[in-house]
Amino acid sequence: MSKTQRILMEMYDAMRSHFGPRKWWPSSQPRSTPAGKLEICIGSILTQNTNWGNVEKALANLQAAGLMSIPQLCAKRSDSLGKIIRPAGYYNVKAKRLKNFVRFVCDEFDGDIAAFLNRPIEPLRRDLLSINGVGPETADSIILYAAGKPTFVVDAYTKRIFTRHGLMDESADYESLRRFCQTHLPKSTKLWNDYHAQLVAVSKDFCKPTPRCDHCPLAGSNKKCPSHNAH
Ligand code: SF4
Repeated sequence: MSKTQRILMEMYDAMRSHFGPRKWWPSSQPRSTPAGKLEICIGSILTQNTNWGNVEKALANLQAAGLMSIPQLCAKRSDSLGKIIRPAGYYNVKAKRLKNFVRFVCDEFDGDIAAFLNRPIEPLRRDLLSINGVGPETADSIILYAAGKPTFVVDAYTKRIFTRHGLMDESADYESLRRFCQTHLPKSTKLWNDYHAQLVAVSKDFCKPTPRCDHCPLAGSNKKCPSHNAH
């Protein structure tokens, strides 16, 4: 095991001991079903630039309007869809992004979300990134959580924690951060799924713009952290 892998796994163990398994991504339907997979895809698009509570309200509205299906979403006008997903914020933009996504699945896979997702990662990721409004983080969330395939989801939280722990450079872009995680962590959908969710939890509770290292589960693994010597 390389030194970096050991550090990353120690960080994971510390986070998991503190938070327990995160069981991410939340879905009202079993994740193995087409309905559960579609719900995760929709949530991945709606969660851009907002918090999960707002996404849950938008998902509940879609459910109540009978729109949690590819054909229904395809048939819905973008402006009407925007009103329904309003709680998620940027609702007109997100309605268009959602329409772009479902239209792609309709046109290329006859509306079959399972067939769309059940493919090797590379073509799936390429297709997702070709859809207007689907960036790398959204694409990787869909691949990891909806398709259940190993790709590492990184975000601003990941970068902040790894930078503060001296593992990454400030200038690292999305792809180099993702490559770093995928190179140094054992390839496992289950591990990568929970690792990302643990980093999000640390960021929300401790690693804020002003870090609260004192009670953070990762304080012991951060040599730069003032509380390091106490661990
Ligand atoms: S709050 Fe401090 S110890 Fe916790 S992850 Fe951020 S820098 Fe590390």
